[in-house]
Amino acid sequence: MKLLQNQTVIVTGASRGIGRGIALKLAEQGANVAFTYLSSEAKAKELEAEIAAKGVKAKAYHSDAADYKAAEQLVTDVLADFGKIDTLVNNAGITKDGLLMRMSEEQFDAVIKANLKSVFNLTKAIQRPMLKERKGSIINITSVVGIRGNAGQSNYAASKAGIIGFTKSIALELGSRNIRCNAVAPGFIETEMTGALDEKVVAQWRESIPLKRGGTADDVAGAVAFLASDWSTYITGQVIQVCGGMLT
Ligand code: NAP
Repeated sequence: MKLLQNQTVIVTGASRGIGRGIALKLAEQGANVAFTYLSSEAKAKELEAEIAAKGVKAKAYHSDAADYKAAEQLVTDVLADFGKIDTLVNNAGITKDGLLMRMSEEQFDAVIKANLKSVFNLTKAIQRPMLKERKGSIINITSVVGIRGNAGQSNYAASKAGIIGFTKSIALELGSRNIRCNAVAPGFIETEMTGALDEKVVAQWRESIPLKRGGTADDVAGAVAFLASDWSTYITGQVIQVCGGMLT
């Protein structure tokens, strides 16, 4: 029996990067996977086929996590297609970096909306079906930047720190109903988001990490699979850092 056999998960923003790695890992562990994308339709369709080839159910949904009504619609659609939802992974996120001196209001608002408001939107929408089941695991992807801050990323750091406060509050609110809420804080994970960085900067990052390498989407996915599974039934309100020891 696989770790997540017969479970249904929703992963937001899984067309690329960490979300894609999470969707694949959870499918390998036997979960049926509903996932969203915003603009990468071809990649989403490819992933849908790749997951289905593992013998589980897979469906890609075009859905903007920053849109409250779209989140409600997504949960309605996934329930109609899959029958139940055991785990929600709030992964969708963006960066719009810049020093405060140059950061526009638009840059700030866009990041808060895509990274933090999205977590509220999806968690709010999933609350009712999870309460009905008296069981659920909500996993929010934050960042080490949300714990320690980062020059040039005040908008991103604020959104990720906000996710941590939100996670702990929901763990307190829903614990008595057997709904767990945890956060995973990746460090430097090599995806398209970090691929935009200069190679020299990347080399410096790798050197500064105790495990001497950038992380992979699969590294993050392992922690997510654990939190989705019954191996973590007594863990809620926690932030698990997946950062190669970057932040101790
Ligand atoms: P990425 O490679 O840029 O991929 C982002 C994913 O999110 C894409 O699938 C994108 O979909 C989706 N997305 C963006 N905005 C969306 C929205 N409004 N609605 C639905 N989907 C949306 O990023 P990543 O590196 O995998 O990061 C994934 C998560 O991990 C983010 O929350 C990020 O903040 C966090 N994180 C990353 C790192 C890192 O080092 N990479 C470190 C710490 C935390 P489309 O392509 O379809 O638009």
